Amino acid sequence: MTAEELKQFKAAISITAVAQNLGLNVERGRFRCFFPQRHAHGDQTPSVSISEERGTFRCWVCDDVRGDVISLVQIAKSCSFTEALSWLMEQYPFLVPPSARKEMTRLAARSANSAPQSRSRVEAPVVEIAPPPAPEEVPLVSEDERKKIILSFLKRLSPVDDTPAAKWLTRRRIYKPVWDKMLLRTITNYEAVNKSLKADFGEEVLKYVGLFNDKGHLRYYKHPLIFPYLDTLRRSFYFQARAIDNTVVPKELNLRGTVPFPYNLSALDQKPGWVYLCEGVVDTLTFLGQKITAVGIPGVRSFKVEWLSYFKGKNVVLCLDHDEAGRSGMEYIGKLFTQAGIHNVILGEGMENLPTAMKEGEDINDWFGGKK
Ligand SMILES: [Zn+2]
Repeated sequence: MTAEELKQFKAAISITAVAQNLGLNVERGRFRCFFPQRHAHGDQTPSVSISEERGTFRCWVCDDVRGDVISLVQIAKSCSFTEALSWLMEQYPFLVPPSARKEMTRLAARSANSAPQSRSRVEAPVVEIAPPPAPEEVPLVSEDERKKIILSFLKRLSPVDDTPAAKWLTRRRIYKPVWDKMLLRTITNYEAVNKSLKADFGEEVLKYVGLFNDKGHLRYYKHPLIFPYLDTLRRSFYFQARAIDNTVVPKELNLRGTVPFPYNLSALDQKPGWVYLCEGVVDTLTFLGQKITAVGIPGVRSFKVEWLSYFKGKNVVLCLDHDEAGRSGMEYIGKLFTQAGIHNVILGEGMENLPTAMKEGEDINDWFGGKK
C-alpha cells in the first residue's frame, strides 16, 4: 500500500465503527480509557474522546493514549502497526484500495496456513508500507485557483444533445430532462479542449490539478461523458468521466482528490423524506429519470462520515451494487447511518424471492431495463 492509499484507506474508515468493533463502548463520541487505573474512579466518566471528522482519538489524562484509527487498534489489541493494519484490512475488505487487495489475499492465505501460536512479532512485515510522505509539498496552485481551472474546463464542454453520449444515455433510459437538470457534458472535440487548456494554464498546472496525465494530455480521451457534481448553487468543482465504449477499462475516471459531497447534493435538502443512495452516477441518474430522489457515491470507499449530517431528516434506502463487496459495504454504511440516528433500509431486503428482485450482479440500471 502506498502512502497515499494508506491515507485514503484511513480516511474511508469510521473510527467510531472501529472502536465499537473492538468492543469499546462508545457513547456520544467518548469511551473509557484503556488504563482506568491511571484515572480517578477508574474512568467512570469516559475520558477518551473521538473525532470522527479527523479520524482521531485522545485521552484527556494519558498522554500516550491518542492517535489515528491504526493506533487505536494497536493499543486495543497491543499489536504492531502492521498487525493493526492487517486486522483493519480484514475487517473492512471493501474499503481496501483494489491495488492493495493482493497483499490481503497473501495475508489471508498465510494466516490460514499457520497455527496462531506460531505467529511471531519478528516475522517480516506482510504488508509493505511506503515510507512516510515528504513534508507537505507547497501546492502549485491555490485551492481557489484549482477550482477555477476545473470550472473553466467544464465550461469548454458541450451539452450532450445529439452526440454519441446522448445515444449512450438514451439506451440506458436516461433522457433529456435529466441531462439538463444535472448539466451533463461531453467532450466532442478532444483536440480543441486539450490545446486550449494547455495554452491557458500550462501542462504542469493541469497535471497538478489532475486534468492532464503524466504524458501531458487531457485524461478523458476515452471517457468523453462528464458528470459534474453540482453544489447547491449549481456550480461544480468536481466531476466523474465515463467511457461510452463498453470495451474501455476502467469505465469511469474520478478526478484526483477527495469527493467533496455526494452526487446530486441538492436532493439532501434537510426536509423529511426518502432518498436512495446509489453506487455510481449512472444508477443515480436512472432513479432521477424515474422521478425518484437519489444521490450517488463513487463507491463505498469514498463515503465520508462527515456526510452523515447532509442526510439529516431523511430515510435512506441503500442500493449499492448487488454483489459481495456491495453487500458488506451496504451493511457498513447502514451501521454508520444507524449510529447517526438516520433511519435506513437496504433495497430489496426481504424481497429476494420475488420475481422482481434484483439478480446477483445486476445494478439499478439493469433492473429498470436499461441496456448494457
Ligand atoms: Zn487515560
